[in-house]
Order: sequence, then C-alpha cells, then structure tokens
Amino acid sequence: MRIRHDVDLQPYNTFALSAYAATLVDIHHPADLTILHQQSNWSTTPRWILSGGSNLILTQDWSGYVLKIANLGKKLIYEDDQFGYWQVAAGENWHEWVQFSLAAGYSGLENLSLIPGTVGAAPVQNIGAYGVELADTFVECEATDLATGKTALLTRLMCRLGYRDSIFKQVTDQQWVITQVTFRLNKQPQLNIRYGELKTWADAMLQIGQSLTPLMVSEQVCAIRRKKLPDPQQLPNAGSFFKNPIITQAQLEALKIQWPDIIYYPIKAGKSVKLAAGWLLERLGWKGYRQGPVGFHEQQSLVMVNYGGARGSDVLALAQQVQAHVLQEVGIALEIEPKIID
Ligand SMILES: Cc1cc2nc3c(=O)[nH]c(=O)nc-3n(C[C@H](O)[C@H](O)[C@H](O)COP(=O)(O)OP(=O)(O)OC[C@H]3O[C@@H](n4cnc5c(N)ncnc54)[C@H](O)[C@@H]3O)c2cc1C
Repeated sequence: MRIRHDVDLQPYNTFALSAYAATLVDIHHPADLTILHQQSNWSTTPRWILSGGSNLILTQDWSGYVLKIANLGKKLIYEDDQFGYWQVAAGENWHEWVQFSLAAGYSGLENLSLIPGTVGAAPVQNIGAYGVELADTFVECEATDLATGKTALLTRLMCRLGYRDSIFKQVTDQQWVITQVTFRLNKQPQLNIRYGELKTWADAMLQIGQSLTPLMVSEQVCAIRRKKLPDPQQLPNAGSFFKNPIITQAQLEALKIQWPDIIYYPIKAGKSVKLAAGWLLERLGWKGYRQGPVGFHEQQSLVMVNYGGARGSDVLALAQQVQAHVLQEVGIALEIEPKIID
C-alpha cells in the first residue's frame, strides 16, 4: 500500500473537481484493508472508496481516508464447453478488461466497451449500455467489510443488482470494498444487437452478407460512444448525470396527454417504463445550457460538463435547478446518478 497526505484529487476524477484528501491510500492488495482496519484511529476516521473517479462529484475537502483501489490481476478459474469463469481484480481498468476478454475468445462484455472506470466499481451501479448490464455476466464478488475488516464472497442475489443500482450504492454505501469480481463469459458468442444505433449498423452489415463477431460489435460500440459522448480528457464530465426515471404505465399515459412524443422504454409489459431523462431535459430547454463553469453538453443533454474551474457547489446548484424544474413541469423527481461525496 502507499500512503500520501494532503493530495488534490482533481487528477483522480473525470469531472476534474478539486478537493483535498487528508490521507490517500493506494490499496494494492486486499490484505492492505485488513492492515488499515487494525489502525487505532480506523473506526473514528471517515473514509470513502475511490477507483477511476468517473462517477463521482466531489463537493469539499476530505478530512479522513480516501481508499484508492488499485489491485491488479485476472485469471480463468474454471471453464466448460459453454462458459469461461474469470476472476478479475477490482483495480483493473474496465475497458482494458473487456478488450482482454474479447481477444482471449470470450464474449458477453462487448456492449459495455469503453465505459470508463474499473472492474471493482462496475457492480456498484451495475453498469449498463446498449441493452446489456454487468448483471448479465456477473457471478459473484469478493469484498472486504470496512467495519469489521473481514472478507466475504457476495453472490449475485446478495448484491441486489438493479437499474444503475446495487446493495453497494444503497444499504451498504462505502462499507464494502469490492476486491475481485467473477464473470461468466460465453465461449459461443450470443450477440445482443437489438439496441437502436447498434441494430441499424448490424442490420446494414447483415444485409451485405457480413457475419458479425463480438469484436466487431465492440468496435462499433466504441465508434458510437466516441461520436456521442464528450471525452472527459477534453471536456471533464461524469457521464449521464441523472438516472432515467422509472414510472408506472398509468403515469406514462397521463404524461402522454401533454407530451405525445415522450421517449420511453418498456420494462414490465403494461406495468412500468423507463423514461429517457435526456429527452425530458432537452424538451425543457436544458440541452446546451451553461451556467458559469458548468453546463449541459450541446449534443448530450444528460451529460453535465465542467468548462473549467468548476466546484462541486456549481454542479449541485445547477442540478437542483433542473430537478426543481422537472418536478414542477413533469411531476417527476430526477435522481442524480454519480455519487456525491460530501
Ligand atoms: C464519459 C462517461 C461515460 C459513462 N458511460 C457509462 C455507461 O454507459 N454506463 C454506465 O453504467 N456508467 C457510465 N459511466 C459512469 C462510470 O463510468 C461507471 O459508473 C463506472 O463503473 C465508475 O467506475 P470508477 O472506477 O470510475 O468508479 P468511481 O467513480 O471511482 O466510484 C463510483 C462509486 O463506486 C464506489 N466504488 C468504487 N470502487 C469501488 C470498489 N472497489 N468497491 C466498492 N465501492 C467502490 C465509489 O465509492 C463510488 O461510490 C460513464 C462515465 C463517464 C465519465
């Protein structure tokens, strides 16, 4: 482990917000967490878990520990005719792991290509894109309980993975550090190419007689994402700023009276739907809106960006205005997706 003091976290979060950590600890091995747990001040010192910093909003300096998860390694632990079971360390870069799995001949993660961040953070919000979620290949994870210093294996059921949600985001926020994740990947590709832009591309390829591979899907996902999403290196951001709200079919019918062209995705036939929060923001005039150093991206209304020198308070002030406006106009409480560190 490596311990540093008074460290500016600006380089460690993709929104490029400046905030000082009193103590930043790089965790290179799960055992480091057990050692930290034995420190006399452990139980009284506040702490939070940092990985790639791509889903965080820092709002102030932090007086306690920031635990940066940086353990590495991946191994095939079991395989049969159909599946390979891979155990991957939490600190591995997500996109590099996806590329590695595809190159090794395993599929299932191709639609999740180019999502920033790490393997260990992926279960926290059950990352998802282009019709696929982490939950589709997740088997279990190993995690250390910061309250007791003990390590446990948490099954898929225990993790309660939902839409951009899990037990780690709600009940046990900042209590368990995920140190390893086990995936079950396909040896015979089963492509999921039903999602909008991916489907258009796949249909065109199939029409000219081109058969598709997981690697081709991954490349296409990367191309779509590069075209659509601002690169945090150029325009700092944390991806989608609000979750797509889930409402009942009855609420949808009521909204359709005022907004007949409202965009939504069915979840449970006839029961609930997911609204496209980006569409709502665009309709209410927030796309491209800028307020001081922050604003909503000109092509992606759901992505708040830092034009330079933003503070967490600028981000929260704009977020609150949007939430109040959407509540007033549409009657829906938008939920912020990134973790607010306060
Ligand atoms: C440009 C852009 C595009 C994005 N696109 C998508 C997308 O398509 N789909 C999607 O789902 N997300 C997307 N995201 C959000 C983000 O990439 C994911 O949520 C990612 O999994 C965060 O990983 P991280 O390592 O950066 O986590 P961090 O931002 O460091 O942490 C996020 C949360 O997880 C906790 N955490 C981190 N590591 C661990 C661990 N090992 N154990 C326990 N808790 C931990 C943190 O305390 C924090 O609460 C996007 C973000 C950006 C900037």
